[in-house]
Amino acid sequence: MIRATVWGENVHERTSKTVAEIYPKGMHACIAAALNEDEAIEASTATLQEPEHGLPQPRVDQTDVLLWWGHAAHGDVSDQVVDRVADAVWGGMGLIVLHSAHFSKIFKKLMGAPCNLTWREAGERERLWVTSPQHPIARGLPKCIELEHEEMYGEPFGVPEPLETVFVSWFQGGEVFRSGLTYRRGAGSIFYFRPGHEAYPTYYDENVRKVLVNAVKWAANPEKRNAHVHDAPNIDIKDAPESIEARGPKLHAEGEEGFR
Ligand code: ZN
Repeated sequence: MIRATVWGENVHERTSKTVAEIYPKGMHACIAAALNEDEAIEASTATLQEPEHGLPQPRVDQTDVLLWWGHAAHGDVSDQVVDRVADAVWGGMGLIVLHSAHFSKIFKKLMGAPCNLTWREAGERERLWVTSPQHPIARGLPKCIELEHEEMYGEPFGVPEPLETVFVSWFQGGEVFRSGLTYRRGAGSIFYFRPGHEAYPTYYDENVRKVLVNAVKWAANPEKRNAHVHDAPNIDIKDAPESIEARGPKLHAEGEEGFR
């Protein structure tokens, strides 16, 4: 079983009647339910309001893939939890970053980039064109996913060039956007997936749900928890694969505070 944790900021659901009517149990619960329809996935939820945002170390250790939805309260997420999640990704945990989480602390940290974009909330039609039909995340999808109402996100999207682009969106107003991007950071696989504005029922869409299931399976790393991501061992000269003679100067002498 792939253990997925769906992290929800859970703010709009409690402050907006519109959002609460669409997602009465929260967006995170809707997303987790979509994942739990697949027998290979066991999904649970965590929210900002829980102690340590529902992500204490043991919970992170037991997560194969973390999904992250945030928007209104990125700044309220503690840096300690962000560092913990980044460490886990480097160690091999999968991370799926949803919609407005493009501006989350964790995504910006892992991208090392501003992750800015243009946007418009006008309930317009979005078509997500599958640009990599051979990609595991696109398995079983039509050529294009059509969403009748979505928020527009437009280029330029201030992220590093991705490993792969799985979807490109067209919006009724004419803009386009790279909507499905993959990255690898350390041993961790990362997928950014654009749709999912809180004011529309996007996470009930069958194709969107299929993408989320596919993405969790793609991001799960069975070899994960090779967790020594901060180790930088000094290889003694006698352990070098080929015989070599040391040449000076030697700045990091034995017994000296180690260079890490
Ligand atoms: Zn939005």
